[in-house]
Amino acid sequence: MSSELKYCPKCNGVEFWQIKDGRLKCKKCRYLFTPRENIFNISNETLRVIISEFVLENPMKVILEKTKISKYKLLKVLEGIRKKLTKDIPTVFNGILSLKKEPENIKENLIIGVLSKNDQIFAKILNIEPQEVEEFLKNKEKIDKSEKWLENFAIIYKNSFYPLFSQAESQISTLKVFWEYLKKKLFTKRGVRKERFHLYLGEYMWRFNNQKLSLKEKEEKIWQIVMKK
Ligand SMILES: [Zn+2]
Repeated sequence: MSSELKYCPKCNGVEFWQIKDGRLKCKKCRYLFTPRENIFNISNETLRVIISEFVLENPMKVILEKTKISKYKLLKVLEGIRKKLTKDIPTVFNGILSLKKEPENIKENLIIGVLSKNDQIFAKILNIEPQEVEEFLKNKEKIDKSEKWLENFAIIYKNSFYPLFSQAESQISTLKVFWEYLKKKLFTKRGVRKERFHLYLGEYMWRFNNQKLSLKEKEEKIWQIVMKK
């Protein structure tokens, strides 16, 4: 057994007795289980299948048929993958962004900030009031144009796209292509709940940034991200 940290699938406890047959017994809730190698407590084989289906954007029904795990479990795994991808921010943004760890405060009208650099995208739900955005957009022309990063910045608000500079520059076109992509993927997706929206945003940001990779390369990259502690 590896020394990797394991969690009890029942209570998330981390202390176990080692049973002779290789299984673990949770010290907290006494649940007996076979330790797995990944954070989802499913076999690595099953996780590989889920990742490859996820890359292909196959529906849940198909994944359930192939893996024979419960719908509840699959939802948990997919959510876990999306969480990891949301945090996989392209290195071009190193030093530009400092991310505070704060709970996503989902407003009635989602306000999304999108930044582009070298064809890569960073998108995040902004924790600001709609009035502030209205005010900001109204005074767009007065913004100090010497702030270089603003050239690569757009706001998505009330399902509309607002690049701060309207010149047909290459960065603006990356932002625009991303917006078109996001619209197609996310805003046509039914049943995305508000509190989960940031996870899908993260997923599509990742897909957009990694679109040049082959299917196999995407699978491998997600695998590495998911297995990273
Ligand atoms: Zn337990």
